[in-house]
Formats: sequence, structure tokens, C-alpha cells
Amino acid sequence: MDDILQYNTGRGSLEKLGHVKMFVLDMDGTIYLGDRLFPFTRGFLDKVQATGRGFCFFTNNSSKNREAYLEKLGRMGIQIWPEQMLISNGVILNWLGQHRPGESCYLVGTPALAADFQAAGVPLTDEDPDYVVLGFDTTLTYEKLCRACHFVRAGKAIYGVNPDWNCPVEEGFIPDCGSMAALVKASTGVQCEFFGKPSPHTLAYMLEKTGCQPEELAVVGDRLYTDIAVAAGTGATSILVMSGETTPAMLAGSSIQPDLVFQDLGQLAGCLG
Ligand SMILES: [Mg+2]
Repeated sequence: MDDILQYNTGRGSLEKLGHVKMFVLDMDGTIYLGDRLFPFTRGFLDKVQATGRGFCFFTNNSSKNREAYLEKLGRMGIQIWPEQMLISNGVILNWLGQHRPGESCYLVGTPALAADFQAAGVPLTDEDPDYVVLGFDTTLTYEKLCRACHFVRAGKAIYGVNPDWNCPVEEGFIPDCGSMAALVKASTGVQCEFFGKPSPHTLAYMLEKTGCQPEELAVVGDRLYTDIAVAAGTGATSILVMSGETTPAMLAGSSIQPDLVFQDLGQLAGCLG
């Protein structure tokens, strides 16, 4: 613990926490691991509110939707407003609504993601779409991959909902949207544009949804290339927690460096005045 706090006197400064009005929290590896809520999570959320701040959650996991997460959090005894649950699905739908309104989409995604697209009014089609969207599709089939690659080869744009290579599960990891996009790139030569963390679209979405200025926002998570990178070069504060996938060796060797590092949310709670 002393080592971690010593780190915080270096690049970042605990004084940055004084400006933070809103914590945007990653989920897996940050507030829980799989289906097990960390013992310090509830105390952290209470401390955030007791010090006059707010919190919301943001996950890159585009295989599920808001309803599924509200249900999971509810089972863990965490009750939040629906507006406090942000997902990469919302980031890309926000962008598509502004930049490709009314155009048709071939979606490689789960039924939950498809439901979000339908609710947002995006016309879904298997034939001659205007563009292709690739999500973290746990219902992926070879036929879907072939169809997506066919459309991309025909010149249709392709967007990825989240860039994660892997998703943590009880047994280790399973391939996520970034790995699926790598397969499409190997076949077509086309790299899709990603949404979700760390894309600038996501930080803009977080600011819009929370009504905060960048300096008032702290993004908290356990993964360097998504949770921490999303705030890099912006006024927002990035906070790494070591309760998930990042090891001290990974942190020391990374070009992506957080503003602050804590062992976990429990240790961060102890620094909130
Ligand atoms: Mg995580």
C-alpha cells in the first residue's frame, strides 16, 4: 500500500481528487470479479456520495445491454438509476444517430445488442447494408463473419463497438470484439474504427451524459489500454486500480500511464475527503 501511495506523489497528485465531482467506474476487475462483488465496493460508493460526489458505471462489454447490467447490479445489492449505467453500445448509437441517421446496418452482435439498435431506430438488414457494425458477439457464427467480410470487401464501412481483445471470465479470458475485428482485418485488409473506451467518442459521451467538465471527471478502471487510455491527454483524471488485470510489471512497462494508482476502490475511498 505504501508503494502505491508513493507512486501517487509522482506523476499524479492526490490533490487532483479534490476537483473530481464524478467517478466513471469500470465494472469487471474494478467493482467486482465475475459474479463476486468486491467487499469494499459498497463502502466506496457510500463515501463518494457522502463527500458530495456522484458515480456512474461504464462498461465496454457490448454483448450485454443496460437492462442486463441493472439486473446484475441489483442482484449484488447495488441500486442505481438507469442513467448511471453507461455502455459502449450507447456511444456508437449516439454517433450513428448523428453521422449515419436512417442508414441500414448489418450487425454482428448478440440479441441484446440488436435490441439496443432496434430501440434506437437503426434499420437492421442482412442484405446490402449501408455499413457493418461488429459487437462483442458471443453468438458469432462463421456465416456472420463471411457476410460481414463480404460487405466490407464491397466497400461498406465497418465499425467496432469496443476494441477489447479479451473479456475476463471465471476460467480466464474469452475472445472479445477486438479479436473478432482482427479476423475481419486479416481477411479484408480493413481495420474498423472502434467506439467504447478508449475512443474520444467515449469521453465525449461520458461528459455529455454526466454534464461534467473534463476536470470534474475521474475515469476509474483496471485496464491500461481502455480505462486509462480514454482519459490520456484530456483534462479528465485517470485512476488505475490494481484489483483486476494489471500487474505492477505491466504498469511499469506501459507507455500508457495513469494519473493515480490505488490497490483498489477501498484504498481510494480512504483518500476521499
Ligand atoms: Mg475491467
